[in-house]
Amino acid sequence: MKNNNSNINLKNLFKKVFFVDLVQGLIVTFGYTFSKTITLRYPDEEKWIPYKRFRGLHTLNRNKEGKELCVGCELCAKSCPTNCIKVVPAQDKTGKGIADRVAARWEINLLRCMFCGFCEDACPTEALKLGREYELASLSMQGQLRTKEELLAPQEIPVNFEGGVIVKARLGRDEDEVSVKPDLSVQKRWW
Ligand code: SF4
Ligand code: SF4
Repeated sequence: MKNNNSNINLKNLFKKVFFVDLVQGLIVTFGYTFSKTITLRYPDEEKWIPYKRFRGLHTLNRNKEGKELCVGCELCAKSCPTNCIKVVPAQDKTGKGIADRVAARWEINLLRCMFCGFCEDACPTEALKLGREYELASLSMQGQLRTKEELLAPQEIPVNFEGGVIVKARLGRDEDEVSVKPDLSVQKRWW
């Protein structure tokens, strides 16, 4: 027992005299100096573009001829567990039935949305998709309400862009908003 204690004391003394702990720490620090950087220079220079399966801000789609795909059936609103979608169907004056109808109003309250994707799954016409826009902060509650017209506008990241990459980005500020514009043509690195 006495021998054991003296061995431990000698070991500790050796570590203190030769700064063993300090050297071990410096080796770790030195190792990281040459390892791959994982810190993202967001939002000034770089931006993460999520994979296709990401569920961000909703987008409403049109067909190739530019006609809105939403027929105002309200299935998305009915399937939403937080009741944050409001759809008002337009009067069907075409006589062609629901397939030719559009929504008079389509609104979402993002403050209540939990981005579960149930609404997208319920949509029979593939009009509704959860896109890849994730910078959704606003200065007022009103800023969290999105209308049909806003959601019909194309998002910055095209549907067929693979994603899962960090691209070059530029931070822009004006009186109303701060935005981070990605340049999808300059992919800087994989995650
Ligand atoms: S993602 Fe989920 S919570 Fe958000 S609107 Fe769709 S169904 Fe509702
Ligand atoms: S988005 Fe789809 S589910 Fe919702 S009202 Fe339009 S067609 Fe129906």
